[in-house]
Amino acid sequence: MFIETVILHHLRMPLKSPFETSFGRVFNRDCVLLEVLSDGLSGYGECVADWDPGYSYETVSTSWVVLLEFMLPQVVGREVKDIEHLQQILGNIKGHNMAKASLEMAFWDLIGKRTGHSLATLLGGHRKSVEVGVSIGIQDSSVDLIKTVSSYLHDGYRRIKLKIKPGRDVQDVSSVRKEFPNIVLQVDANSAYNLDTAEALLPLDQMDLLLIEQPLAEDDLWDHHKLQQKFVTPICLDESITHPRHARQALEMDACRIINIKPGRVGGVSQGVKIHNFCESANVPVWCGGMLETGVGRAANLALASLSNFKL
Ligand code: MG
Repeated sequence: MFIETVILHHLRMPLKSPFETSFGRVFNRDCVLLEVLSDGLSGYGECVADWDPGYSYETVSTSWVVLLEFMLPQVVGREVKDIEHLQQILGNIKGHNMAKASLEMAFWDLIGKRTGHSLATLLGGHRKSVEVGVSIGIQDSSVDLIKTVSSYLHDGYRRIKLKIKPGRDVQDVSSVRKEFPNIVLQVDANSAYNLDTAEALLPLDQMDLLLIEQPLAEDDLWDHHKLQQKFVTPICLDESITHPRHARQALEMDACRIINIKPGRVGGVSQGVKIHNFCESANVPVWCGGMLETGVGRAANLALASLSNFKL
């Protein structure tokens, strides 16, 4: 494909309700949308970076700069053969996975439009529909939390994930579990604990949770291993896994037993597929997390989640 030009759009959309995690509360979805033009077609991609560096060092501003100054000059006015070629071109840039993934997503869209295939078909997906869960931010009180869970269950969500942080963990989760004894329930700490403070989470092991996500810091693979030995509930890693080799290392050292694959965090859908395939061969189930994307990014997530080992 000869890439004629790339247009960057900055969008800010208000969320239906504020979303609070262990690192703060957000009110808007800020994002960069890319439009890649080739042969009369436009391919769209979304950069999933947040406006602030709470989840990752990447932000809307850093991705804008890295795309504009380092990534786009390497593809605009050039022939890019396929996704592997694109990954090779971007391989000389350290990190900035979300920016890379946004460009890759637009390329996938172009390939789909040229060939007349959906992204799910291009990736080898086999599901026609995907069951989805919802991530619920920290609420003002347990009463509010139960009301919010109830309304999402009423909307048809099949799995509930609760954001937790120190002081808003065991009691909140316990109140939800008592009210809804049979729902599929999981928690996400977004790195808010260390090996010592995570002892407070031990009662969660009695609450029949599907998983406990990213309790410790993103570079604490070894400490996640130590923590996993204290829990029967599987630990799931999110922020820690930014490359397929991290997935292999984390599973080899029993630092987690489930992986949350986000295409943006790992540098693109193609890298997400690699992690999916490795986990499938190791008999480890995966699921696809969201980043408050607009419909552009959500569509790519759904396509990825149509692959066979997205069992959660
Ligand atoms: Mg997470």
